[in-house]
Amino acid sequence: MSKRDYYEILGVEKGASKDEIKKAYRKLARKYHPDVNKEAGAADKFKEAKEAYEVLSDEQKRAQYDQFGHAGPQSQGFGGFGGAQDFGGGFGDIFDMFFGGGGRRRDPNAPQQGADLQYTMELEFEEAIFGKEAEITIPKEETCDTCSGSGAKPGTKTKTCSHCNGSGQLNMEQNTPFGKVVNRRVCHYCNGSGKIIPEKCTTCGGTGRVKKRRKIHISIPAGIDEGQQIRVSGKGEAGINGGPPGDLFVVVHIKPHEFFQREGDHIFCELPLTFAQAALGDEVEVPTVHGKVKLKIPAGTQSGKVFRMKGKGAPNVRGYGHGDQHIKVKVITPTKLTDRQKELLREFNDISGNEATDEQEGSLFERFKKAFKSE
Ligand SMILES: [Zn+2]
Ligand SMILES: [Zn+2]
Repeated sequence: MSKRDYYEILGVEKGASKDEIKKAYRKLARKYHPDVNKEAGAADKFKEAKEAYEVLSDEQKRAQYDQFGHAGPQSQGFGGFGGAQDFGGGFGDIFDMFFGGGGRRRDPNAPQQGADLQYTMELEFEEAIFGKEAEITIPKEETCDTCSGSGAKPGTKTKTCSHCNGSGQLNMEQNTPFGKVVNRRVCHYCNGSGKIIPEKCTTCGGTGRVKKRRKIHISIPAGIDEGQQIRVSGKGEAGINGGPPGDLFVVVHIKPHEFFQREGDHIFCELPLTFAQAALGDEVEVPTVHGKVKLKIPAGTQSGKVFRMKGKGAPNVRGYGHGDQHIKVKVITPTKLTDRQKELLREFNDISGNEATDEQEGSLFERFKKAFKSE
């Protein structure tokens, strides 16, 4: 289906001002709104105009539309406007849109869920591996005990706001060149709550909510990784008008470890070996988060060689076994030698003919030397 150009739909020039776009849309909306125009095709025309207006009245969307047209990147928010827009709300919605009346009407007395809270928890490397039971203290808003959230002094009652009849909003009629329009505003007598509190609760000052520091128990599962979060249901801010509380999200930050690094369930570390250990082979003890483990170093081990210790990594946080520990050999070249050590190394060098002993390495070594001789 080929779509008409948004500017064409509204009948304005490409460089039209915000005002011109608004006026053009208002004209079309009055003509085609399904509440006033029952002709076939009117609803589609209204929908089309609404979509065009929604894009062209938004600076960001308009800039994108100007650049990409209808083929604009979906993720940037095109495409979602067309189809299932409901315009059952009558003219109210349109007027809200024009006059900033606060969008959707909502009942100020309806229960609302409390806000979610976020808390960042620092963990030691090992704590993330093995999990932890922890108590955290967070400041959060709770329902005031003194007034049970009503905001009224005990023994007194809240009254319905007589100015807005409890709706929290006032309708103001305004005369405009286009006729009388209704402009909806938050009721300033009750600040939109729909209620008047003649005698305020002294504990919460009439808000019905108090800030408290709460201790919350958190179970950190074994194997949790950097940046993962734990959701503690119902431990966010208190709900409003008897609504459910929000949730608490604990985001994990893991402190770096001196020897170990972690990638998912795998743990990585370096193992320093002397030249003699690497050349002759050895059995060494390697630290893992599960304790020390013996590792056999075969004779002739090269620096950079990686040994894998199966199952010695972190447990999978979803319970799928353990990762591995990867140990990378690092042969340390001695920097402080005694005269005796130097003497032995010189002797070693003389009898090994200044060449690597291993065959494969030897040939590489030979080729390397030749490459430099020929220059
Ligand atoms: Zn009011
Ligand atoms: Zn109170």
